[in-house]
Amino acid sequence: MIVNLKTDASVDSVKRSLARLGIWVEGIERSDAGVSLVIGKQSARSDVAELARIEGVRAVSVPDSAHPRIDAHGRSVRVGDLEIGGAEQTVISGPCAVESEAQIHRIAARLAELGVRFLRGGAFKPRTSPYAFQGRGSPALDWLRSAADRTGMKVVTEVLSEGDVEAVAEKADVVQIGSRNMQNFALLRKVGAAGKPVLLKRSMSATSDEWLLAGEYLLVHGASGVVFCERGVRGFDDATRNLLDFGTAALLTHAHGLPVIVDPSHGSGRRDLVRPLAKAALALGVAGVMIEVHDAPGEAESDGPQALSPDDVAEIVALTRVKRGS
Ligand code: PEP
Ligand code: MN
Repeated sequence: MIVNLKTDASVDSVKRSLARLGIWVEGIERSDAGVSLVIGKQSARSDVAELARIEGVRAVSVPDSAHPRIDAHGRSVRVGDLEIGGAEQTVISGPCAVESEAQIHRIAARLAELGVRFLRGGAFKPRTSPYAFQGRGSPALDWLRSAADRTGMKVVTEVLSEGDVEAVAEKADVVQIGSRNMQNFALLRKVGAAGKPVLLKRSMSATSDEWLLAGEYLLVHGASGVVFCERGVRGFDDATRNLLDFGTAALLTHAHGLPVIVDPSHGSGRRDLVRPLAKAALALGVAGVMIEVHDAPGEAESDGPQALSPDDVAEIVALTRVKRGS
């Protein structure tokens, strides 16, 4: 943002007025046209009209945003009769992978009793090793759908390849793009064109701008909404699986006004940390949390060490009954 000063303005006095609004000047440009103050990124969301009223200011200009659709898209995303990012925080929960029809029905029934309205579960699993369990595939989509329909829940599930977009979009209420595919632009285009709400997980090394631009891809191509999921970035310390980035979750929520779901399961990789991190996320005012559960974590085919029992989710659901911001 550039603040142009009137010819008789005092630079120091305008800088002081800006500082009172919490806005810091990063550079001063002098040209024949006069003096301009360059406002840095951290103050970029300021109220332009308020700045224009400061004594000594001639004009305020805002460069075109690289992601105008995301900027316009607002705080909440509608999913049928529900909303993510509305007055109540959302809990998305379910197993890492849908392992069997009986398993997903059992878990969905318990989560629904606890008040969870969004059921997650992977049918197609992105696994680091080709020898690891890859998911049950298409049949698992049907099991998820029937478990959700029986319990009045919405389905959130990941699509891994362009070839599966149609099948996944037909069964899912929210299509998940996993971390490893956040910048798979061909997949983003195809998923966008399906016209559904999308849960866009942050890549493990994406900057916030790259993440926002991936969201812009989805909206440009037709997604009905984008929910951003912070699941941790790759840190320097392997004591936790990832470094859960609350700073960026706060930035997207409060500075950009976007719906953010925090995933403390993948964010920590440790079941003992999932509840405290979920509480911290909810206290931060994000749109909600995503929690992996399993009813026999020792036997889970993927991500057992981070799985809570479905019963443990009750405590997290209870914390969401407050209005965000209060
Ligand atoms: C998942 O949510 O199932 C998953 C694979 O997560 P991520 O893409 O964040 O690793
Ligand atoms: Mn998982």
